[in-house]
Amino acid sequence: MATATQTIPMEKSVAAYVAKPRLMLINGKWVPAASGKTFPTYNPSTGEILCQVAEGDKEDIDRAVAAARAAFDKGPWRNFTPSERGRIVWKLADLLEKHAEEFAQLESLDNGKPITMSRIADIPTSVDQLRYYAGWATKIEGNTIPISAHGAKFLAYTLREPIGVVGQIIPWNFPLVMATLKLAPALAAGCTVVLKPAEQTPLTALMLGELVQEAGFPDGVVNIVTGYGETAGAALAAHPNVDKIAFTGSTEVGKLIVHAAAGNLKKVSLELGGKSPNIVFQDAEIESAIPGAANAIFFNQGQVCCAGSRLYVEDKQFDKVVEGVSQLASKIRLGPGMESTTQMGPVVSEEQMNRVCSYLESGFSEGAKAVVGGSREGTKGYFVKPTVLVNTNEKMKVVREEIFGPVVTVMPFSDVDDLVARANNTPFGLAAAVWTRDIKKAHRIASELRAGTVWINCYGVLDSAMPFGGYKQSGWGREMGHEMLNLYTEVKSVCTPIS
Ligand code: NAP
Ligand code: MG
Repeated sequence: MATATQTIPMEKSVAAYVAKPRLMLINGKWVPAASGKTFPTYNPSTGEILCQVAEGDKEDIDRAVAAARAAFDKGPWRNFTPSERGRIVWKLADLLEKHAEEFAQLESLDNGKPITMSRIADIPTSVDQLRYYAGWATKIEGNTIPISAHGAKFLAYTLREPIGVVGQIIPWNFPLVMATLKLAPALAAGCTVVLKPAEQTPLTALMLGELVQEAGFPDGVVNIVTGYGETAGAALAAHPNVDKIAFTGSTEVGKLIVHAAAGNLKKVSLELGGKSPNIVFQDAEIESAIPGAANAIFFNQGQVCCAGSRLYVEDKQFDKVVEGVSQLASKIRLGPGMESTTQMGPVVSEEQMNRVCSYLESGFSEGAKAVVGGSREGTKGYFVKPTVLVNTNEKMKVVREEIFGPVVTVMPFSDVDDLVARANNTPFGLAAAVWTRDIKKAHRIASELRAGTVWINCYGVLDSAMPFGGYKQSGWGREMGHEMLNLYTEVKSVCTPIS
């Protein structure tokens, strides 16, 4: 049955929110950039300006870091009990849940993603992350250590303390999810934060700042500075009074962050790009592997760091899988983020659309063939057709580099050992998947793949409780789960003679 398309009417509060230039949150106050400058954020479904936002730079980062430093060193935050910290993070989750529809709309307007996805994926995930880490605030423990030093008997124990002032730099693919994934564990651990959202999608992080105020975080605990990466982001990464940088984005910028952090040797965690292999064996349940493979690459317009962008299919099933994924791709309804029937929105920006299209051109020039898609859709907004590329091999740029768009390269395989070598033949190591009914084979391949997450007979399952992060050039450290608390705490050993 065909579903009637309906443009979701903007909530009054959202329309009012984007009607005014948005300010930054520094030391508990909404302030313009010191320079007075603003920059536009666009609605990628139309290409039109959505809202003006304060253009923070080094001077604003200095102000925000000073506020976060004072709130950490002298402020009330570090004297909050773990239970009080947990309660306030939980309160932020409740407030976000209460305003879920406004956030879903603002996310779809700013990023372009389908409103149905913002509603069922982005906003509930953010709420869940806040609650998950709110629970951890009271469970961050050290150990007692039975040491064997000579002489007296000792009592030795460890304390797990907040790392201090944290700079967090996030991308545009899941703007609010990235903001809460960064804020929640840092705040639960007792850190103070300066958050820099991506220039393309600053709005939901700023609107979350309103709720941060309402939840009752003391001034300076959460600061949100909007601006460009090369100015605001770089100043934050290099800042001598920042104790740690947590970054999600491209591997290229991740390397710049590492260099910038060298000045004061601040701690760094990185969640970077990927080119994840999705492997379908001939003994797989093909009826689930085909939609699984399509969803692995087309979800969120392909703008997912762990997207299944290299699809390896065992010879005998190759044609069937290519045909199945291509059929699903051709049926995906492209449309503006705010339309109720849209299944795939635009990519985030004109720049990203051009980047994806230039990868397609490069693929074609090297001999790749598009079974479906292969170009931009329409002339208004930044739409790219879901694309299935065949005649591809590991020498091609489209197979080696992260495209970050709705483009999958499909390659056949016959020999399993050779397949593992091909799957691992990448500078990345974020994720991988294996589809097979053979349980021994599944776990053997899972152990041989050099990736931070391996899915068996599923794809893209992420959970606040399950660690996520990259081998090789996909990153440093693990986010989500209790592993993430290690990113925001220092371990202190304390030891005293007791005899
Ligand atoms: P990006 O440049 O890595 O952006 C990520 C964040 O880093 C943004 O907040 C950005 O600020 C900031 N930034 C940029 N240059 C910086 C610098 N020199 N110092 C400190 N911070 C800096 O990503 P992008 O240009 O938006 O996207 C490019 C490619 O990165 C994509 O095509 C994709 O391959 C990859 N990517 C990966 C992920 C992921 O989740 N792993 C996410 C997004 C993009 P501004 O946005 O304000 O410039
Ligand atoms: Mg935008």
